Amino acid sequence: MNLKTFIRDIPDFPTAGVIFRDITPLLKDPKAIKFTEEALLDLVGNLKVDKVVGMESRGFFFAPMLAARLNAGFVPVRKPGKLPFATMRQDYDLEYGSDALEMHSDAIIAGDKVLVHDDVLATGGTAQATCRLIEKMGGEIVQCNFLLELDFLKGKDKLVDFAVKSLLHY
Ligand code: IMP
Repeated sequence: MNLKTFIRDIPDFPTAGVIFRDITPLLKDPKAIKFTEEALLDLVGNLKVDKVVGMESRGFFFAPMLAARLNAGFVPVRKPGKLPFATMRQDYDLEYGSDALEMHSDAIIAGDKVLVHDDVLATGGTAQATCRLIEKMGGEIVQCNFLLELDFLKGKDKLVDFAVKSLLHY
């Protein structure tokens, strides 16, 4: 199955000059969902995984499915102020300004083997901040995987310490 046929290009979203890769056509096709789930699992291979960490919000589509299939727990990473319990916070720089991500302080147990999943790897800021949070909590990142990677933004350069795999490249 050619998954790229299920990714819709939206020019000038959310701002002028950006081509947004919209995965909702993939999400509304049951065969494409199943194919994507299996393909992401193939990327993980035989790695042992205790927790799958998914980033708000599009990382939540596949991360819980992967967690169930890997017999692992799912952990959400969210924008500040969204999680109800005690949190750990990681700030990170954007092109203009900064942002932050949070995770529940009991989400990762030291020594946990962690798979990080998001839909898109763009500049890598989100994934790098997530990895920092996980490592602060004593987790060991076994892989970061993505549905698609925008190669020209060089997000991988921010994740050089980790195994990074993506199903599709643009
Ligand atoms: P980064 O921090 O620049 O790597 O951006 C990655 C985050 O932005 C991910 O959580 C994505 O969901 C989102 N994102 C960036 N570009 C796109 C896109 O073209 N389509 C969908 N999500 C995107």
